[in-house]
Order: sequence, then structure tokens, then C-alpha cells
Amino acid sequence: MNSPTNSQATQSADDLSRSFAITTKLDALVAWGQRNAMWPLPYGTACCGIELMSVMGPKYDLARFGAEVVRFSPRQADLLLVAGTITEKMAPILVRIYEQMLEPKYVLSMGACASSGGFYRAYHVLQGADKVIPVDVYVPGCPPTPEAVLDGVMTLQKMIKDHTPRPWKDNWVSPYTTGAIQAGTPDDVKAVTSKLQLGRP
Ligand code: SF4
Repeated sequence: MNSPTNSQATQSADDLSRSFAITTKLDALVAWGQRNAMWPLPYGTACCGIELMSVMGPKYDLARFGAEVVRFSPRQADLLLVAGTITEKMAPILVRIYEQMLEPKYVLSMGACASSGGFYRAYHVLQGADKVIPVDVYVPGCPPTPEAVLDGVMTLQKMIKDHTPRPWKDNWVSPYTTGAIQAGTPDDVKAVTSKLQLGRP
């Protein structure tokens, strides 16, 4: 049997490489990687936190969207899942965690409480996480269904894919910088309550 000539071997190598070759833009490739490998930090404070657990579980399986690597260190996370009521006492902590997360970072607000204070129209409850940090996606419900949370994650993935502008993030100024929250003092909570007057007319 005759062995293939050099030109035949080169030809078949060319054909093989063409059959696998793809062309894309670098930023599209990076966005593909980002949106399919988000590492969430679950900031679960109330009943929505329990509901979030079912999103992670085998039935709804957030892993299908590449976001199952839950991290409890902000320095290893790029998606903050705010799930539950945020009291004004917690606001400085929420800001600090957000600040410590990696860039590019995203925030998903899960449920009525995290998005607007919910039915807690009360002096001690933050009337929405967006009073102190920039929120990208709001998921309605009390609690939202796991399907709704998955829809929120998919919405975020689409935003990353489309490079959707995020002025709320670009224009965000840390309450620590503005002085609304005073860093490292026992007066943090008092400062939030007295200076931000969060959500109240
Ligand atoms: S939105 Fe409803 S389920 Fe979620 S934390 Fe608030 S009260 Fe609980």
C-alpha cells in the first residue's frame, strides 16, 4: 500500500483544521466565559435564602447555567445574590462585601424584600438593596419561584453577552466614600439610619 505524499498529508491537515476553525471577537469570547462561569455569593438573610437553596439543588440545578460554584468569600465571587430582608444594621456589611468582590461583578436582587423592603415598611429595614449597592437584575416575588431566579440569572447572562450598558454601576459611589456610612466605627448603623434616611419620604 502506498504511503500518502507530503502534499496529500498537508492537504488533509488543512481540511481538518478548517473543519474545527471558528472565528470570533476577543470580547465576545471573554463574555462567553464570564456569563457561563459566574461564581455566586449568596447573601441570604431570610426566607428567600431558603428558596435560593432549592435553586442550587438537584431539581432546578443552577449548575446548568455554570453558576453553581458558590463562594462565601467575596474575593472569590463575582455575582452577589441578595436574598432576603436587609435591615439597616446589615447595610454597611452588604456594602463592604460588594466592595470586596472581584470585577467585573454583578448583583441580583431576589424577592420583594431585597428589591424594595417588601412589606417591611419599617424604620429598621432598608427599602431595597439598591439604596446602597448597584443592582443589575430584580427578581419579583415573595418568595420568587426557583424558575424566576433562573430567569433572572439568564437575564444577567444576556446582559453580559450583549455588553449592556450599566450606568447604575458606572455611576455608583460607595456610601463609605460619601460619608453616609463611616468605616470601621461602631456608629456605622447610626450613620446609615440618620444620614441616608433610606427609602423614606
Ligand atoms: S420577599 Fe418574602 S420570602 Fe423573600 S425574604 Fe421577603 S418575606 Fe421572605
